[in-house]
Amino acid sequence: MDELLRRSEKLTTVGQLAAGVAHEIRNPLTTLRGFLQLQRENNRLSPLHNEIMLSELDRINLIVSEFLILAKPQAIQFQVKSIRNILSDVVSLLNSQAHLFGIEFKFEFEPKDYKVHCEENQMKQVFINIIKNAIEAMESGGIITIELFRLSREEIGITITDQGIGIPSDMMPKLGEPFFTSKENGTGLGLMISQGIIEGHKGMMEIFSKPGQGTRVDIVLPLAQETDIEDKGEEPSAD
Ligand code: ADP
Ligand code: MG
Repeated sequence: MDELLRRSEKLTTVGQLAAGVAHEIRNPLTTLRGFLQLQRENNRLSPLHNEIMLSELDRINLIVSEFLILAKPQAIQFQVKSIRNILSDVVSLLNSQAHLFGIEFKFEFEPKDYKVHCEENQMKQVFINIIKNAIEAMESGGIITIELFRLSREEIGITITDQGIGIPSDMMPKLGEPFFTSKENGTGLGLMISQGIIEGHKGMMEIFSKPGQGTRVDIVLPLAQETDIEDKGEEPSAD
């Protein structure tokens, strides 16, 4: 069964988000506090306690760094960029991790170099999040296919398809909710952040999945317009 997901109506308010972050950080903090108190009282922490403290600290750090991506208004600079270059950069970044799991990338790009008016780092973050999810879903290897094509006069489509474990249909409505994760070490923030970024670029993101077969993430983005190019005084594309 193909499941369709549109996230726009699910975007959380800042308030809900803040409450979620506070909650997620308080849990590991409580653990850390408990262990430190133990240390003060009987001056002995086992290596296991130490391990747990480190991993709880790592968890806080991960949550905070994922949120920093959202909270960097000074770094936001929209420019006209090649989406093909952005995708290639992200894949080179994740290639060695993918190879470890026996995963290959397959590109199906139309030859034209489509340009998007975007904040490059945010756009990279979206593809990192989605491709990481694909890698994490394919523990026994396989192929991740990335397609890039013109969808209409003003839009391009990007699809990222994996051959991983897929998503059970009862989980579909929860995707993109902050902190929803099925992974032991997941943050459950990747999809929510990606959705927010795509919407900030006037695009759309949808997820289709067949449990046991794989998952496809579809992204639609507006093509850069002449006016975008003039705004930034950048060279128009050569091809
Ligand atoms: P995280 O990766 O930290 O769990 P995400 O927001 O990136 O958080 O993803 C939320 C959940 O959505 C994942 O825990 C997983 O259950 C599911 N998911 C997302 N992408 C995929 C995929 N490609 N294949 C299978 N499950 C996925
Ligand atoms: Mg993720």
